[in-house]
Amino acid sequence: MPQNAQPTASHFINGHYVEDTAGAPIPVIYAATGEQIAQVHSATLAIVDQALQAAKAAQKAWAAMSGTERGRILRRAADIIRERNHELSVLETLDTGKPLQETLVADATSGADALEYFGGLAGSLTGEHIPLAGGDFVYTVREALGVCVGIGAWNYPTQIACWKGAPALACGNTMVFKPSETTPLCALKVAEILTEAGAPPGVFNVVQGLGDVGAALVTDPRVAKVSLTGSVPTGRKVYAAAAAEMKHVTMELGGKSPLIVFDDADVENAVSGAILGNFYSTGQVCSNGTRVFVQKGIKQAFLKRLAERLGTAVIGDPLDEATSFGPMVSEGQLNIVLNYIAKGVEEGARLAFGGKRLDRDGWYLQPTVFADVTDDMVIAREEIFGPVMAVLDFEDEEEVIARANATEFGLAAGVFTNDLTRAHRVIGQLEAGSCFINTYNLAPVEAPFGGVKASGVGRENSKLAINHYSEMRSVYVSMNDVEAPF
Ligand code: NDP
Repeated sequence: MPQNAQPTASHFINGHYVEDTAGAPIPVIYAATGEQIAQVHSATLAIVDQALQAAKAAQKAWAAMSGTERGRILRRAADIIRERNHELSVLETLDTGKPLQETLVADATSGADALEYFGGLAGSLTGEHIPLAGGDFVYTVREALGVCVGIGAWNYPTQIACWKGAPALACGNTMVFKPSETTPLCALKVAEILTEAGAPPGVFNVVQGLGDVGAALVTDPRVAKVSLTGSVPTGRKVYAAAAAEMKHVTMELGGKSPLIVFDDADVENAVSGAILGNFYSTGQVCSNGTRVFVQKGIKQAFLKRLAERLGTAVIGDPLDEATSFGPMVSEGQLNIVLNYIAKGVEEGARLAFGGKRLDRDGWYLQPTVFADVTDDMVIAREEIFGPVMAVLDFEDEEEVIARANATEFGLAAGVFTNDLTRAHRVIGQLEAGSCFINTYNLAPVEAPFGGVKASGVGRENSKLAINHYSEMRSVYVSMNDVEAPF
């Protein structure tokens, strides 16, 4: 990787890389080897203050630019990201361990899509004119919220920074973004590229740190909005902290999503959907369909074809483009998943594929399928966040809808069937924000993404994200004398 492809310091504040070694060191470990490849330092309170100060100072002038000008900068950043896709994808692979085969098409590119999409919208963010009796009228003005904080999970570090940064900046907000301490590198490149594209100093800042740094950002009175991608327990804490000061929030949290395969489904497509929804990014995707409900008539064919296809996964060096299945992000996450696999065996689920750690360096685990899983088992109830699919049998439609909805989560849901009316009837009854018919886990920037129930609040992507990064001022204009009671 060329030297300039790596971030050169821990933080990016006010248009520059900033180092402060007073903060606790955070090692960056390459998941494929277990070797340390970089080190950053956690932000001290002074660094947090510096970043928020920069974002606050930059916000009014950024919002005062025309939307078209702001949008041009975002779209230029998208172009730079696309030009450098290869080196950014290598960095994403080093940060997360995800195979280059994936990162080349799913990470920097989806970040660029968000910058391009919201850059395109920025010039058309308007209010409306509301005519009233007697010639009076109200006009509304769409205004930025102010300084926004973005806090990311470790599975899609570039994408998460862009999904939060792009709509925030398009609306005239500035942002301080804190990546997960597990994957601190990629968001720094997003900040660097936005600056190169013309974003004024302070518009997009990155500070490193663990939950304590996140908490310091969330509770700061200069912050108007917090957007978190993370687990439900963290979401509860961050939402509560934000509520204490009436801050706006977007919460993109975890899930245990159902993927329902009816007897009449195309087996090959259903297996493809289940693979996408359980093993892409080594299963570390929030919207994964990890409870795969398979109707009894298709169960044998489904499991047979699934095992055959999983046998062709190429597990290996993520930097080799032939590799289609990489390691877990960290040793800690590997152990969490291994514990869940042990729990599944202990509870009597049938291990139909995989289940073992690989005897090699790095945090490698086999893609794993449990069959004959029942609703009460821990592996069917809790988010595992790894490559572990639970296959559950079902008999009929009404039963599977009730069982699919019997969870606190509500992020995603999928249905595979060739019966057109059943597809829409079933999907309409599933309690989930992001739904799929005859496919799974596609998240184009044009479509809203987000969860219901404990899986989240608000939506990312699409025009709806604009509502979560702006608010309306209404101005009543009287064309008549003022009537008063006395
Ligand atoms: P965590 O909830 O552990 O952490 C998320 C982020 O919040 C991290 O940057 C973390 O810092 C930070 N954080 C932790 N505690 C606090 C706090 N008290 N105040 C402020 N910030 C805090 O999630 P993971 O990083 O382990 O990511 C996996 C989770 O993310 C899964 O549950 C997954 O479903 C969810 N996710 C949801 C997505 C969605 O769009 N719905 C997409 C991707 C993942 P640090 O970790 O550095 O300590």
